[in-house]
Amino acid sequence: MIVFARRSPYRATSRVARRGSMRVARAMAACLAISFYGSVTATYAAQLSVEEIAPGVFVHRGQVAIYSPSVGGDISNCGFVIGREAVAVIDSCGSAPVGRALRDAIRARTDRPIRYVVATHMHPDHILGAGAFAEDRPTYVGHKKLARALAARADRYLAANKELMGAEAFADSRVVPPSLGIEDREEIDLGGRVLELRARPTAHTDNDLTVLDRQTGTLFVGDLLFSVHVPALDGSIRGWLKLLGELKESPAQRVVPGHGPAAMAPDAAIAPVERYLSRVADDVRKAIRAGQTLAAAATSVGVSERDAWLLFDEFHARNVSAAFAELEWE
Ligand SMILES: [Zn+2]
Repeated sequence: MIVFARRSPYRATSRVARRGSMRVARAMAACLAISFYGSVTATYAAQLSVEEIAPGVFVHRGQVAIYSPSVGGDISNCGFVIGREAVAVIDSCGSAPVGRALRDAIRARTDRPIRYVVATHMHPDHILGAGAFAEDRPTYVGHKKLARALAARADRYLAANKELMGAEAFADSRVVPPSLGIEDREEIDLGGRVLELRARPTAHTDNDLTVLDRQTGTLFVGDLLFSVHVPALDGSIRGWLKLLGELKESPAQRVVPGHGPAAMAPDAAIAPVERYLSRVADDVRKAIRAGQTLAAAATSVGVSERDAWLLFDEFHARNVSAAFAELEWE
């Protein structure tokens, strides 16, 4: 297992030997659990790969897929940052089993406490693994509007996604409300390493939060940026386009999108999303001016984007409908 593959610079050396034997015991216990509980747990434990995209910054690249029993909750990017004293998780993945596998990946690299679990926004594929960190007693952090959004949607998220994933892949997944809501900007210190949290105005959702690791210039943007996976609109298309303009001014050296590669150059990540959203907005405005109904518009808006993205049929019609509802009141 990857657990044994490397000695991490983030582990306290005096504890290496003792913890090594503990890890062996834990891994054996995990293997027993796998054979007992079946394939889903086994798949994640063995396969949750994380990439160190910058020193001390790790990202797991989720699959470009929707929830299903075979893919489970592994459908979004999630990551963690290791400071001198503590670890921050940024998005807990899309189910408890995947969240636990992310925690295992952290524990394979450091024994420093997991002090923060940050949610970039409310969508279940980014937050349903949060309960996997309960034993760490972290501060759960989100946008100030996240708590309200989750309270309104939690029951629906849990029921719908349990159905899509199946009981085994969903097992123990739950919604954990944030214990710290970010109003505007706030910093968290991981020990010699400051993360800058910024609550954003309504864009992808009404509770998008970005996380900048100042030390490496890495900006976690959640679903403010999609790559490969077609963008999904659940906030404001005008707000999102405006915010993309602001992200272009960011000093970040790399961004971590919510879906797609683990890390990208900011311009390369922003341009396709801006192009897609602009196309949808422009086409919807034309349709509205021409007096078309939503049903008529849905067949023509944004079709030039079809081949540029995966999961187009799963999300695009909903995006058109959301953009139409917003823009007809302009
Ligand atoms: Zn999202």
